[in-house]
Parts: sequence; structure tokens; C-alpha cells
Amino acid sequence: MKQNTQHLGIGVRIGIGFIVVLGLMAALSAIGLRYVAEANQRLKDIAQNNNIKTELAMQMHSALRERALSMHTLPILADPFEKDVEIQRFNAQGTLYIQARDRFERMPLNPEESRILAYIRKLTIEANPKVQAVVEMSIFSDDQTEIFDRIRSVAMPRQRAISDQVNVLLDLQRRQTADAVRNAETSYDRVRNLMLGLGTIALALGIAIAWFVSRRATRQAKQLAAQAMYDPLTGLANRALLQDRIEHEIERSSRTGASFGVALMDLDRFKEVNDTLGHNVGDELLREVGQRLKNTVRAEDTVARLGGDEYVLVIPDLNPHEVQRIAEKVLAALDPPFYWQNQSIDLGASLGISLFPSQCTDAGGLIRCADIAMYVAKRAGKGFAVYAPDQVHTTLSDLSLKSELREAIQSDQLCLYYQPQINHRSQRVAGLEALVRWHHPQRGFLEPDSFIPLAEEAGLIGPLTHWVLKTALQHQASLRRRGHSLTMAVNLSARNLHDMTLPAVIRGLLAESGIPAGHLTLEITESAVMANPSDGLSILTELDRMGVTLAIDDFGTGYSSLAYLKRLPVDELKIDKSFVMDMEANDNDAVIVRSTIDLAHNLGLKVTAEGVENRDAWDTLSILGCDASQGYFIGRPMPADKLEAWLRESTLSPILAGAVYAL
Ligand code: C2E
Ligand code: CA
Ligand code: CA
Repeated sequence: MKQNTQHLGIGVRIGIGFIVVLGLMAALSAIGLRYVAEANQRLKDIAQNNNIKTELAMQMHSALRERALSMHTLPILADPFEKDVEIQRFNAQGTLYIQARDRFERMPLNPEESRILAYIRKLTIEANPKVQAVVEMSIFSDDQTEIFDRIRSVAMPRQRAISDQVNVLLDLQRRQTADAVRNAETSYDRVRNLMLGLGTIALALGIAIAWFVSRRATRQAKQLAAQAMYDPLTGLANRALLQDRIEHEIERSSRTGASFGVALMDLDRFKEVNDTLGHNVGDELLREVGQRLKNTVRAEDTVARLGGDEYVLVIPDLNPHEVQRIAEKVLAALDPPFYWQNQSIDLGASLGISLFPSQCTDAGGLIRCADIAMYVAKRAGKGFAVYAPDQVHTTLSDLSLKSELREAIQSDQLCLYYQPQINHRSQRVAGLEALVRWHHPQRGFLEPDSFIPLAEEAGLIGPLTHWVLKTALQHQASLRRRGHSLTMAVNLSARNLHDMTLPAVIRGLLAESGIPAGHLTLEITESAVMANPSDGLSILTELDRMGVTLAIDDFGTGYSSLAYLKRLPVDELKIDKSFVMDMEANDNDAVIVRSTIDLAHNLGLKVTAEGVENRDAWDTLSILGCDASQGYFIGRPMPADKLEAWLRESTLSPILAGAVYAL
């Protein structure tokens, strides 16, 4: 998500950058084109006006010249008719001159032109009577010498003065055209420079954007590569990098002949901690475990996290004799407790190790083999195990066991054993706990610890619980018919608390068997509730509303406090047998049992103790005020047919009779 918005941000910035560059280019072109167009227009205007003015000045010039010619011609002509024609030409030229000058004056003029024209006009006005006088003289007088003398001395100088000014005007036009051309040239130069400047800026901007984009892209590519190879939570190698490293080691080992190891480590109590203390604490723990592992191994060893609470170490040059030492060292790294808000948390771990060369030949195989070894270590309650090929059969047999279990639930291979619970005060049997067994056709009698986890994994716990409930309630109903009004306790698994249909199913089974809801107790472990607090709580609340008794099983082994349990709708606590069995030998356990009973009573909860194996334990629990107990001292779990006889005995004589029977 963050990645996406980042991409978006960069995209927008690049877009804006390019739009700016494009805008700049467009502005540049517009400004340049306008500048050029204006310069062109100016040049055109000037050129056009100057051409007209030059033309007019030329007309004035030639009219003056024609008039001068006429003036010189007139005295020589003898024929009055010819004289008359010449005078008309002389006058016509005068009109042409005036017309040209007038048109000139109506043109847009600059001050210099106005000044010259005014001067020309003044000269013309002054010259006119003098020139007219000379012309008249040449019409009427025959004294040619006198006339030419007057033309030369009076008329011509004035005509020439005017001509000179017309020339000045012509010169001015030429100069102005040249200026306009020169101006246009400098304009073009300026535009070219501006275009070049802005072009360079746009280019620089484009290059800057390209540089920025490529730098970001490289950085992001690096980040992605890191993400692809490392676990974001712990910073350790992830599965992909692990695979790579193992393959690298296989190749190296095949070349050099040195052996190497792959160790898979799974934390023992992580899920519980995570569910109880929250994901943040869980994440913190996972990071710290990663850090401790890194500090423990050599720099050339790889530490990877596979996800969840599984870590994998790749240990190059691992001599098979050293495996134990290394495994112990790795496990010892988790020995010092972890701390969270002054609360110490012990995290055990199980380690499975596979070696190369061995039957595990590729990266996936080595991890699988290490996984099998880890599974074996966990099952055996040992810290670590090294992969041995026959372990495969165990896990394979787990697989077949799963499919057989499905069959077993349907075909009544399961059966229930019942363990009596005795009330301390009355010393009589108050209830039974139903404990499941499996008569496997080939493997024989199987204890629940060996198949309940499989049922959970295979998603079979729903049908199994249903079968147990139905069978236990039927048996309870038949006992009632024979006069034994006993409560029945049935164990639920964590997974049952995900099944929102459970309350309805139980309501149906109660109705079917006619057992009052208050006579059914459901036992749940603390961690089962924690594993799914929201659904779990709503299912428990619903069951509580129905009137079913709810008991917390194995109390004291989890992390939750009584204060937390108070918020759950539970009615009963079952103190875990480990405390009860060690009570006599271990003062700590005695304190736990005593305080649990006191606290539970303060919260209004009933207390049942499990694992009462001898009379001392029974007596101590009686003194401590425990409500009920179960255990081998009272009675072992027994099949339905044996139970009948046991119950008959116990009704005849109280507790000790049952105890003697059981022992
Ligand atoms: P649990 O609920 O704690 O059951 C009590 C276990 O303690 C039983 O083992 C019982 O045989 C054993 N036990 C009773 N008294 C004594 C004693 O004095 N000393 C010793 N050392 N042990 C004693 P079991 O029957 O093997 O059951 C093991 C666990 O399997 C049960 O522990 C329960 O968590 C689970 N389980 C059994 N039946 C069912 C079932 O129907 N459904 C589910 N979900 N779990 C079941
Ligand atoms: Ca139980
Ligand atoms: Ca228990």
C-alpha cells in the first residue's frame, strides 16, 4: 500500500515535471513566434511606407527637374503656340510636385520628416513668386541674356534649394530602411538567443527529471530486491534467499567434499505468548530470537525465517561430530528469558537438523528432512534431533493415521473411558470425565495424546467432538435411568471454539438425550480460549446462557491470570495434574495449588484437582477446601462396562472403597 502511494507520488511528480518542460517549450515557441512576427510586421510597415515616401520624393524631384528644364526651354521658344504648350507643361509639373508633396505630408511622418517637409513647403512658398516672375519674363520679354541671367541667379538657386531638401528626404528614407533592416536583424538575434536560453533550460529540466527518475527507479529496484530476499519483520533471509544459499552450499559441498547442515528451529510456546500478550509482543520476540540466533552463529552461517515461529540455519562446513555442540549452542541462545514489561517469558525451542551429503539431496529435501527431525525432537520432548531416514515412516504414518481417523470416527473404532470425580465434602462420586480412546485395527489401543493433535491438524476435531459428546450423553442418560445422577465432563479443543454451530449442536444433543444442561461440563484449556478470543467468547457465552457448566482445564500451565478468567463465563477451574502430583515434594507447587483454590473461591468458581495419585494429596486437597478431585488414587479412566461395577461399589462404601478398587 505504502509502495503504491509512493509510486503514485513519483508518477505525479514526473508528470508535473514533464508538463512544466512542455509548458516551457510551448511558451518559448509562442514568445519566439510572436517576436518574429512583430519584427516582420514592423519591417514590412517601414519598408512599405518608405517605398511610398521614396516614390513620392522621387516624383517631387523629377517634377522640380522638369520645371527647371521648362524654365530653360521657355526663353528659347519663338513660336507662341509652343511657348504656351511649354507653360502648361511647366504648370503641370508644378501641380505634380504639389500633389506628391501633399500626399507625402498625409503619410505617417516622423519628426524629422515633418521638419524637412515644413522646410520644403516654406522654401516653395518663398520661391514661387520669384520663379513665376522669371517665367512671366520669359513669356513677355525677348532679352534672352537677361532672362537666363535671372534664371541662373534667382530661379535656379531656389529650385535647387528645394531639390536639395527633397534629396535630404530621399536620403532619410534610405537610412530609415537600412535602420529597419538592421533592427530586424538584431530582433532575430535576440529571439534566437532567447530561444537558445529557454531551450537549454528545458533541456536541463528534462535531464534533471530523467536523472531523478532513474535514481528513484534504481533505489526502488534495490529495495524490491531486498524485500524479495529478506524477511521484513526480522531482517533475516527469507525462504527465497535460504533456498539460494542452500543450493550454493550443495554446489560448493559437491565440489569440495565438505559437509554442511540445515537446522530448522521451531519455538515451543510462541503461539501461546502471541495469543496471550498480543501480536506486537510476538513480533518483538520473533525479532529478538532472530537477533540472538545471528549473534550465536558465525558470520558465514545463514539465519533465515520461514514464517511464523520457524527459523532455519544453514551451517557450512559442519562436521557430523560437531552437530550436538552446535545444536546445544543454538538452543542455549534461547535460555536467558525474554522480557516484556518486567515480565519474563521463557521460550523453548525444538531443533531438527539435516546434513548434506545424505538422503536429502536438494534444498527442499534438506528443509523437509530438518522439519521431520524437528517434529521428532518435539514429539520426544528433546531439544534437538538429527534426521535419520526411518523418521520418514513416522511422519508418513501420521499421514495415513489422519485418513484412518476419519474412518475410525464413522465406524466406531473410537470408545470412551470415564474417570470419576469425587466430591471432597460428601466423599461421593459427583461426576465423570469422558476421555477418548482409539482401538486401531492394526496399531492397537491408542491414547488421545497420539491422535487428538492429528485430528486437529486434519480438521477432524469437529466430527470427533460431536461423536464424543453424543456417546458420553447417551451413556450418561443410561446411567441416569439406572439411578446414577452424575455430571459428565467433555473436553473441547481450541478448534472447537472456531465452530459457531457448536452451541446449537450441543443443544440438539442435550435435547436428544434428555440430560439437563447443568449436568454437562465442557472443559477448555486457557490457551484454547486465547487462541480465538472473540469467537471463543461468544461461543462460551452462548453455552453459558444455555446453562452448560464451563471449566478451565489444565489451569496454571498457561499465561492467563485469574483476573482475565473472571471475564469469561466459566464456573469451574481444573488445577493441572502437574502441580497436584508434585505438591508433596515441591513447596512452590503446593503454594500454587493453595492460592489457586483460594482465588477461585473468591471469584465464585468451583475447583477440581486432577492427578490425585495418593491419600496424602487427597487429604491435603480436602484441608485446602478443594471441591472435587480425580486421579488414579480414586479411579483410573475406565470403559463403560467396568464403570458400572465401580459405581456400584462406591455407592456401597464411600471414597476409600473406590480408591481401593482403583488401586
Ligand atoms: P486431560 O483433560 O487433562 O485429561 C486428564 C488426563 O490425565 C487423562 O489422560 C487421564 O488419564 C490422566 N489422569 C487422570 N488421573 C491421573 C493421575 O492420577 N495421574 C496421572 N499421571 N494422570 C492422570 P488421557 O486420557 O490420556 O487424556 C489426555 C488428554 O487428551 C486429556 O487431558 C485431554 O486434554 C485430551 N482428551 C482426552 N479425551 C478427549 C476428547 O474427547 N476430546 C478432546 N478434545 N480431548 C481429549
Ligand atoms: Ca480434561
Ligand atoms: Ca487436565
